[in-house]
Amino acid sequence: MPDVPPTATDLAQAVQARETTPQALLGAARARVEAARALNALISLNDRADEQAARVQARLDAGESLPLAGVPIILKDNINVTGTRTTCGSRILANYVSPYDAAVTERLHQAGAVILGKANMDEFAMGSSTESSASGPTLNPWDPARVPGGSSGGSAVAVAANLTPVSLGSDTGGSVRQPAAFTGIYGLKPTYGRVSRYGLVAYASSLDQIGPFARSAADLALLMNVIAGHDPRDATSLDAPPAFHAGTPDDLRGLRVGVIRESLGGNTPGVEAVLQTTLDALRAAGASISEVGVPSVRHAIAAYYLIATPEASSNLARYDGMVYGERVPAPDVAHSMTLTREHGFGREVQRRIMLGTYALSSGYYDAYYSKAMKVRRLIAQDFARAFADVDVLVTPTSPFPAFRRGEKTSDPLAMYAADVDTVAVNLAGLPALSVPAGFETVDGMRLPIGIQFIAPALQDERLVNLAGGLEGIGAVRVEVAPGYDA
Ligand code: GLN
Repeated sequence: MPDVPPTATDLAQAVQARETTPQALLGAARARVEAARALNALISLNDRADEQAARVQARLDAGESLPLAGVPIILKDNINVTGTRTTCGSRILANYVSPYDAAVTERLHQAGAVILGKANMDEFAMGSSTESSASGPTLNPWDPARVPGGSSGGSAVAVAANLTPVSLGSDTGGSVRQPAAFTGIYGLKPTYGRVSRYGLVAYASSLDQIGPFARSAADLALLMNVIAGHDPRDATSLDAPPAFHAGTPDDLRGLRVGVIRESLGGNTPGVEAVLQTTLDALRAAGASISEVGVPSVRHAIAAYYLIATPEASSNLARYDGMVYGERVPAPDVAHSMTLTREHGFGREVQRRIMLGTYALSSGYYDAYYSKAMKVRRLIAQDFARAFADVDVLVTPTSPFPAFRRGEKTSDPLAMYAADVDTVAVNLAGLPALSVPAGFETVDGMRLPIGIQFIAPALQDERLVNLAGGLEGIGAVRVEVAPGYDA
């Protein structure tokens, strides 16, 4: 077994105990970033990190106790950090420097974390592979010929290749959970409204949530206790104070686990095997396992893409070169806007804007957008019904492990279909966690497999608790990608 590098919990304790310093941790993280450049996980580094590390040290010297003392962290490039570029993986924002901190950024600073840099992502978080970034694709450290998943691929790789112990991504339809599954780590999508989105660049506002990547349940708890909580600057923010902690195997006894019937079949043999092993381990620990139908999830992909694209078309209307980002000059303003958008947005983003505009247009609104909204309501109702009998629902996070780079780029529908297990959760606003549960060997490469657990709204704590229990019984397999475990 390769050594598992220190977690955020370990590092914060070591800093707090004066065994190391924020500056030393920052230096070591920078060296790892340098050594892992080929993965293309980062878009930019934070010029103010040294300053921040020194400030954390000063606060510790003044006697403050900080939960994330000196822990280096990487944020997806759609989360604002003062003085740092927020490109969203797009040419149109290539030179946009944020004048303010996102709510999560503020909370991380307050807790003593040091923001090392910004992670690569699919352009405007639209994608499932981190191949559509203007900064080029991110590679999967388990097999560099494969994608790390997306859209938060850079954030996932940052943790899987141990550039930092934890990171943040955003999840609109699976963008935290699926890359976590493809890279062998945890990824949590909180309940809609649990984490403030102030300072997160909007993709589809009724679905977007910020969520953490980590290699231990304790780190998930640590991070959620810092970033979750009410924020009046996000109108959708809920007043539900976080109370996260990693559970123990005792917490698994009597837990009612429902396997979503519709997610069975259609998975690779490796995914089916890992799901069964996980269920067996839960059963042995005293959980009861049953099969539960959530029939409307069959329509989740169609509904999701008919809701996410209209919201995107509206959210992205602001990028016309007049206020933000790059501008292609032309004799008249309208022409300049058109050229700016044509040149600034990549193909997938343009496709989504067209799809979304079409779904909202007069004559098609009822056929597409309103129908999708009805399906969304059915999905929420089906989940509510399922949770009358079980405490958590389970599915694979993805029907297959990481796919090859280029395999789905020429077929947008195949790329959308990859989200089959994740999008329903966002439509229903529920919390869900992908846990690293095993491996499948494909063409001689050992690829991680993720299992998704879904909880009722506001029961995010139950998922982190469960993760601790799964670690305790050895059902979770966290390994840093080979070659990055030093
Ligand atoms: N793959 C989905 C999409 O492209 C989800 C992306 C996300 O969660 N940001 O829309």
